[in-house]
Amino acid sequence: MDHCLDIQARLKQLKSKLPSTVSLVAVTKYSPFEDIKCAYQAGHRDFGENRVDSLIEKAKLAIDSGMNDIRWHFIGHLQSNKINKLATVPQLFSIHSVDNLDLLQNLIKRQEQFLSATKIFLEINTSGEEEKGGFRHLSEIKEAAQMLLQEGQRFSFFGLMTMATIRTDDVLAEAERCFSQLRSTRDYLESQMNISLKLSMGMSGDYSVALKEGTDFIRVGTAIFKGE
Ligand SMILES: *Cc1c(COP(=O)(O)O)cnc(C)c1O
Repeated sequence: MDHCLDIQARLKQLKSKLPSTVSLVAVTKYSPFEDIKCAYQAGHRDFGENRVDSLIEKAKLAIDSGMNDIRWHFIGHLQSNKINKLATVPQLFSIHSVDNLDLLQNLIKRQEQFLSATKIFLEINTSGEEEKGGFRHLSEIKEAAQMLLQEGQRFSFFGLMTMATIRTDDVLAEAERCFSQLRSTRDYLESQMNISLKLSMGMSGDYSVALKEGTDFIRVGTAIFKGE
């Protein structure tokens, strides 16, 4: 079957499994622009990239192709020296991966440069894996939350994001542990700060667990674009 039709069929099938409150970010980091166009033509609007340079390239192609209502989600590790570039992305809907206080401070300093008002997720390290970024301590998470609430003008504090443990024999059990931890952290912040926050968790291999844990956003690439 045609590759584009394949993508559209898998997208449709995945969406049919999602409650209407859950948003699907189609992760395109392995995909050429043509594949994004296929998904867009099937009515999909939310796309995620994890590298600033590829995001800039694809966002430009999207504008050139008249896909003006596309919504981009930045989901990768962000280095402070790439903030200026990220700010130029048209239709940047959200950043899911604000993973430390330094980065947040640098983002806030440069917020006027952002073309779009952008929603911010704080990334939480729920797996405990050393090589992963993300906030670990509740005191730091609260400090970041307060900073965003007080100083974010172009930015709004939108939610919390996490990734489950990668190196484990029991992927699904670890996903459940990580995702329920993210949910408890969210519940705690909501009640302490009197705010409302979204959850971003679940990828191709573990989104079913994230759905059970009540996520608002799942970020899925492989299952849509490669069919694995
Ligand atoms: C790549 C990536 C995803 C999607 O992963 P798949 O396994 O391809 O679905 C989701 N979130 C982040 C942060 C990623 O880097």
